Amino acid sequence: MEPEILIVAEHNGSELDPITFDLIAWGSQIASEKNWKVGVLVLGFQVNGLLETMRRSAVDVIFALDDPVLQDYNSCVYVQAVARTLMKTAPRLILLGHTYLGIEISGGLAAKLDATLWSNCLAIKPTPGGFLVTRPVSGGAFLSTLEIESGACNVISLQRGSSPLKELPIKFPEVIGLSVPPESDPARIKVTGETKPSFAEDITKADLLVAVGRGIGQQSRLPPFLDLAQALGGAIAASRPIVDMGWLSVDHQVGLSGVTVRPKVYLACGISGSAQHVAGMRDSRLIIAINEDPSAPIFQIAHYGIVGDIFEIVPALINEARRSADRQEKSGGTTN
Ligand SMILES: Cc1cc2nc3c(=O)[nH]c(=O)nc-3n(C[C@H](O)[C@H](O)[C@H](O)COP(=O)(O)OP(=O)(O)OC[C@H]3O[C@@H](n4cnc5c(N)ncnc54)[C@H](O)[C@@H]3O)c2cc1C
Repeated sequence: MEPEILIVAEHNGSELDPITFDLIAWGSQIASEKNWKVGVLVLGFQVNGLLETMRRSAVDVIFALDDPVLQDYNSCVYVQAVARTLMKTAPRLILLGHTYLGIEISGGLAAKLDATLWSNCLAIKPTPGGFLVTRPVSGGAFLSTLEIESGACNVISLQRGSSPLKELPIKFPEVIGLSVPPESDPARIKVTGETKPSFAEDITKADLLVAVGRGIGQQSRLPPFLDLAQALGGAIAASRPIVDMGWLSVDHQVGLSGVTVRPKVYLACGISGSAQHVAGMRDSRLIIAINEDPSAPIFQIAHYGIVGDIFEIVPALINEARRSADRQEKSGGTTN
């Protein structure tokens, strides 16, 4: 089978990255309108466990590129392996996550396949002659929608959390085993260490996010915000400086170079509201901002704003959240 849409799955060796399912949702939506087939490429070494999970998904075929040379991630090897595999299946549309892996390999892949790359997309919609893709421009201050033709091969990378997730049919796809073509050139990059991502906490799935920014001042001042997230039954998110300083891991970063989130409630604590941050959270259903600067841009998009010191307001919110949870428990209700 030669599917028109090919998705490059991401994983950490034992678990699939949830973005793979976002990509499958986008791929399925396009395939159903264009009457195309969707394939997924799982590459790595000893990926059998991952294939079992993929067998209960909405794709038509799984290509398993299982080879010892893919055990450790190396962008040169991965680009060559994926490009050579895809030359045989000749998809019209290749979908990757706009993740570290996707960002690194999508350019090389497009070059090798003589395809066009549309990176950092938020949405893709089929049209009779091709697709409409929406991407942030000017550092996320604006969104642009471009019409692209589906004649040649297009490579599209999509932001995490961008897909309109819905129930998809399980197709029990066949698995086709592949191996890396032996003529692969030697890698020019030597990988000396690797940190496997953990998908334990996916902030794009949380209903409530407590997001912290540079206003918290120092890492030792994080605990009250973690407590608040826990007391409210939500997760912790962050602006980029918090991640750059290593106070929280990169999977907590919201924004242009982080993830896009749309929780029911987004509580921004000590975040100024730069265009790059807002690009990743502006579609949250309810935005509440706490900032001591009344002219902070975050107040322009917040539904409720509190001008004040986060270190005075957050402890009061924790107490109230805990009192409310106690009241709910005593009355036998659930916490909301
Ligand atoms: C290409 C590119 C991509 C980027 N991608 C991202 C991205 O994905 N995500 C992202 O977040 N940023 C991103 N940035 C960085 C972005 O431009 C901003 O620098 C960043 O968002 C600022 O983070 P911040 O709001 O936490 O910090 P600041 O802008 O420093 O704001 C801190 C805020 O805290 C307030 N504050 C201080 N103390 C207190 C207190 N005690 N109580 C209440 N309020 C207080 C201050 O008034 C201030 O408004 C990107 C930049 C570039 C160039």
